[in-house]
Amino acid sequence: MTISLQGVSVSRGIAIGPVHIIQHDQIDVREYNIERTQLEDEISRFNDAIANARQQLRAIRDHIPSSTSVDISAFIDTHLLMLEDIALTEEPKRIIKEQLCNAEWALKLQRDALVSVFDEMADAYLSTRRDDVDHVVNRILRLLLKQKPLLHEVPEDHLKNKIIIAGDLTPADTVLMQHYGIAAFATEFGGPTSHTAILARSLGIPAIVGLHNARRFIKNSDQAIIDGSTGTVLINPDKKTQLFYEKKQKEVKRYYSSLKKLKNAPTESIDGITVELMANIELPKDFDTVRNVGAKGVGLYRTEFLYMNRESPPEEEEHFETYIAVIKALRGLPLTIRTLDLGADKQVDGAGKQTGSVKSNPALGLRAVRLCLREPELFRPQLRAMLRASAHGPVRIMVPMLTNTQEMQQVLQMIDDLKAGLDADSIAYDPDIQIGGMIEVPAAAICADIFAKKLDFLSIGTNDLIQYTMAIDRVNDEVNYLYDPLHPAVLRLIQTTIKAGEKAKIPVAMCGEMAGEIEYTQLLLGLGLREFSVHPASLLEVKKIINDTNISKLSKLMKKVLNASSGNEIKALLQQTQLK
Ligand code: PEP
Ligand code: MG
Repeated sequence: MTISLQGVSVSRGIAIGPVHIIQHDQIDVREYNIERTQLEDEISRFNDAIANARQQLRAIRDHIPSSTSVDISAFIDTHLLMLEDIALTEEPKRIIKEQLCNAEWALKLQRDALVSVFDEMADAYLSTRRDDVDHVVNRILRLLLKQKPLLHEVPEDHLKNKIIIAGDLTPADTVLMQHYGIAAFATEFGGPTSHTAILARSLGIPAIVGLHNARRFIKNSDQAIIDGSTGTVLINPDKKTQLFYEKKQKEVKRYYSSLKKLKNAPTESIDGITVELMANIELPKDFDTVRNVGAKGVGLYRTEFLYMNRESPPEEEEHFETYIAVIKALRGLPLTIRTLDLGADKQVDGAGKQTGSVKSNPALGLRAVRLCLREPELFRPQLRAMLRASAHGPVRIMVPMLTNTQEMQQVLQMIDDLKAGLDADSIAYDPDIQIGGMIEVPAAAICADIFAKKLDFLSIGTNDLIQYTMAIDRVNDEVNYLYDPLHPAVLRLIQTTIKAGEKAKIPVAMCGEMAGEIEYTQLLLGLGLREFSVHPASLLEVKKIINDTNISKLSKLMKKVLNASSGNEIKALLQQTQLK
């Protein structure tokens, strides 16, 4: 009998093959007390585990094939940096000494303390970094327990063309598995913004997360089909289903290879409307990918990575050097740098205590521009570095999460003051540098016309705009079903923003995930969107849809869409309409 399981799609593509189940995440930790005389041995056991963990990760990094398209070693480096952090290397030893407990127990206590900090972070991206803590802690635990490391001991040919089913996967596993030639993976846990999911998309491995209880239903040697675009896993499919998916798989492959020829083609609809197609990036080394897909520039450079895994924020010079490296790599393509969008990190915790209430719901608390304005010493060096970088290439500054015009005025004033300071010091910058704002808060979308009068461009951040419009936490599994980009309220806010931009004659882009989902491309064109900023892996697909669309013929559909009363109704309308 065919079993069908549904998870969350994170990376498109179809894979068919035998299953290989990974059970590594069940680590049983025994908790016991030790004698004072055993302290020294326990501490050296812990030190050895840390040293071995570092060795393992370095070995993995050395195995990363040079042909790999994204800077995967950066993900491994993140874990290596965590293994240098006193929070993991020293704190557990303090706990062992103070509580006379075994090393595994101390590590687990410290892990729980760290994870509780991450759990309070409002930012989806950063809150998923708790996965990284778990991955590193589990690696150390396995070493303490003398368990085998994960996949690295599995013979390579064992995994070739297999569909991996696991509780969770580390970025390191994902890298190695791609190296070993796996066909696809599905995990029980993890979210679409986890490191592993980002990697899967970049590496082009079909992948599904959130496939709850998968390992209760699937056994080793079962045959499976993974459809990464729908998030469906079929176990032991019948002949007819298998043939259907084999055909679909061939079509998908042909489709992807046909996209490559679009790299240098203009992005232009059938009726001659030009659309700007930009890329979203996070790591400075993502830039090759930007060029590989022929993006017209970077529409969103998330700078949060610069602040991660360190005790103190980067200084102006470090910002500047990083931005210069990006500008050089982009060779004249425009670069939109987003100012810091951190959530509830330590400084926010402190501020949260002062103001009392923000900690209980960090998504609604002190994050992004709110945090930057509260902590100008964090904000100014970044802004100044951006201004200085603008003398070396086309740079735009983009401010996340604007809510009211006071915030916007304060940022603009701060930039003016910094410009005056640069003038006084005879330091070059682009005097006409464009300053834009992200429309992510419903209040800002409704009043987009007010923002459009003062800013040079707007960019719609649908990841947050949907979260705030639907009043759901975008990282909370339990209310995920309400995360609906097609809800009429969301579409009205998008339309209002686009119209405000048109009226003020300033460009409006979209840089949230919605812009890279091809099922929404025509809808967004119909709403008037003319600038998309998407993950490089989706860019050519989006380009194809745009180039195959006659925008002038969308008006009838748009009328129906805008009169529809639910997301489901709109979804059905979009599915019925195959526009050419
Ligand atoms: C968004 O909210 O849509 C966005 C692009 O920003 P982030 O996902 O980084 O919050
Ligand atoms: Mg956002």
